Amino acid sequence: MTIYNLGSINADIVYRVPHLPGAGETLSCASMTRGLGGKGANMSVAAARAAARVVHIGAIGPDGIWAKDRLLEFGVDTQHISVPDTDATGHAIIYVDDAGENSIVIYPGTNRQISTQMIGAALSGADPADTLLIQNETNAQVEAAKLAAERGMKVAYAAAPFDAAAVESVLPFCDFLILNEVEAAQLEHASGLGPDKLPVRDVIVTLGSKGCRWHRSDTGESRAFPAIPVEVVDTTGAGDTFTGYVLAGLDRGMTMEQAIAQATRAAALQVTRLGAADVIPDLKDIQGAAF
Ligand code: ADP
Repeated sequence: MTIYNLGSINADIVYRVPHLPGAGETLSCASMTRGLGGKGANMSVAAARAAARVVHIGAIGPDGIWAKDRLLEFGVDTQHISVPDTDATGHAIIYVDDAGENSIVIYPGTNRQISTQMIGAALSGADPADTLLIQNETNAQVEAAKLAAERGMKVAYAAAPFDAAAVESVLPFCDFLILNEVEAAQLEHASGLGPDKLPVRDVIVTLGSKGCRWHRSDTGESRAFPAIPVEVVDTTGAGDTFTGYVLAGLDRGMTMEQAIAQATRAAALQVTRLGAADVIPDLKDIQGAAF
């Protein structure tokens, strides 16, 4: 089975700073790195590292060919990534402090220029057993979700960054929703519905170092899963790693419990590493982890 991921591709420019800069403050920092990031790219890499077949649907500018090459190196199918010359590739300026906390500014660039024709062409080869994954860092989420639902595919939605209008229009097509604690609170504020009351079969709320909670609307069950205690270096990409791993696990026939257990190990390892897509662990790394 295949995971089709309509997702952002960013250049992550990461600065290690002694503390996050305040308003009006000028800070000098010791290191700067450029790597592959963007929620979409991170999730594609995570799912591929978890041994799923992943087709990424997205757009980069002519300055972003390296990012497409990197995705290919990670085993992601990149034939549905277009290269419009109308804007720069999306990028994120990321500050990470000594405690591993981060603060991020994102320029979406070509991530908002994905054509619906291209999405249609990518999904024309999909099968009802396949999954469409979407987030809120691209355009055309609703069109893609509708198309996938019409084809009988499962629709998984990582509703980040939170956007009330996008969530309201995409939710009716979703089988699986994943949010962090802040996004879940924002959704509850906007819709009046807690995660256990949403009209989606499976809802996972991730809780950082406290793990996650899974709600199943058909049985009314709700279960907590603890995180694995680790020494945090950089939390960038923790949620994306978790999401890619959960979906890959489900796609490969695991139960939700098994998929969450593996995703919890992958995300714990990810927070011990500096960077995003480039350092997402694979299955061997997880087996060899000291926890
Ligand atoms: P996001 O990155 O989207 O905000 P979270 O911070 O909730 O997502 O993290 C997603 C998952 O990553 C958590 O459910 C947990 O399994 C893992 N994780 C995050 N932070 C830590 C941490 N400090 N220690 C161990 N695991 C963590």
